[in-house]
Amino acid sequence: MLQKNSIYSIEIEDMGHTGEGVGRIEGFTVFVEGGIPGDYLKIKLKTLKKNYGIGRIIQMLKPSEDRISPPCSLANTCGGCQIMHMDYGAQLAIKGKRVKEILERIGKIETTIHPTIGMENPYEYRNKAQFPVGILKGKAILGFYKKSSHDIVATDYCHIQAPINKEVIEVIKNYIETYKISVYDEKSKKGLIRHVVTKVGFATGEVMVVMITNGKELPLKNRLVEMLQKKVKGLKSVVQNINDKNTNVIFGKETLTIYGEDKIVDYIGDLKFHISAQSFFQVNPMQTKVLYEKALDYAGLTGEENVFDIYCGIGTISLFLAKKAKKVIGVEVVEAAIKDAKENARINDINNTEFYVGEAEVVIPELYEKGLKADVVVVDPPRKGCEEKVLETIVKMNPKRVVYVSCNPASLARDLAYLEGKGYKTVEVQPVDMFPHTAHVECVVGICRENT
Ligand code: SAH
Repeated sequence: MLQKNSIYSIEIEDMGHTGEGVGRIEGFTVFVEGGIPGDYLKIKLKTLKKNYGIGRIIQMLKPSEDRISPPCSLANTCGGCQIMHMDYGAQLAIKGKRVKEILERIGKIETTIHPTIGMENPYEYRNKAQFPVGILKGKAILGFYKKSSHDIVATDYCHIQAPINKEVIEVIKNYIETYKISVYDEKSKKGLIRHVVTKVGFATGEVMVVMITNGKELPLKNRLVEMLQKKVKGLKSVVQNINDKNTNVIFGKETLTIYGEDKIVDYIGDLKFHISAQSFFQVNPMQTKVLYEKALDYAGLTGEENVFDIYCGIGTISLFLAKKAKKVIGVEVVEAAIKDAKENARINDINNTEFYVGEAEVVIPELYEKGLKADVVVVDPPRKGCEEKVLETIVKMNPKRVVYVSCNPASLARDLAYLEGKGYKTVEVQPVDMFPHTAHVECVVGICRENT
């Protein structure tokens, strides 16, 4: 029987879903934050529950061969990159292994799982940064929240963000300090600047800076714009968003353009997208292209098909498919996203798409009742996966192929098991690393009707 607060040695054998190390002591599962497979550690058992324990590293007995010194000095304190202390090749391998294990264990799915597609340069890949702003020892800081806390870890350069953020951070700190601009304090609810959000078009170099303020008055905003213009190459848009609510949600309701456009432009492949302060856009545009090309490949379109893109967001996948399909119907619950999807279709001269707002589990059965047919269905649901009603209706529509894009292997496994029980076969799974140095893994899955 293990004892809480006792010291044990443990070999880390696996990685949990938030990047923590997993090992066993006397057959009992113990999670160890910061441990990676292959590490031998001395730990203190901080928590002991019925089915598992949580240990804290007190000594590294023998480091894993995959352990590296992370390039970022904040890797251990910042909540952003959970596995930066692991060699990148090993990160890709363990993500693939997790997908395989989860599909087998939860879904009883035996299929081909291709090696995870990683990035050639797995740094500076994010096109959107959200920096909370604070004050430390009288100086302005921008940074990220510490793991499970609202303490800010100050940063001047984040290794996974677009490099232009370095200039933005410098200018904002300078502006706050030079003009004694107040900074929002979560406890007293006083002070002006809450967050700075940046968006970068990787293909165009266009930059948007969003100042999120507790109140309407942004002092010397023209001066701020001049300072940004001087340092930030590609600056296309400076926007103020007002959030005077006591909330963890970053954006408020009102958005004002204080310089340039209210949007920037980016491309994925040859498709053009308008990105505004609050619109959703995939954060790793290079890997998004890889993922969508796989989805297009698995859809196997000839130009004759009616395609459904369920959970379509701003229509990125729909537009990718539209060029090769007869017609694409996109369904999404967020109204603003559907507005963007229509606008994106228009600016790309794509005329064979239709978009519907609503919950997929309501809209898809309605469209089926109206007699709409699907030859191919693509789904890209949120973490919890598809509602059973959606899967049930897909099966009724009897498409010859289903393409499943998933950010959560556990719900994917459950949904694949459902489809396999209804005459579909999981042909192949392609994990794609959309978020290097984090524990996330995205998969695109090719599924075929068996009696074709
Ligand atoms: N395919 C898009 C976005 C996928 S993210 C892309 O690649 O960019 C999942 C999307 O599902 C989100 O846009 C979310 O708003 C939407 N969503 C969540 N629950 C939904 C539901 N019940 N019905 C329809 N859409 C839903």
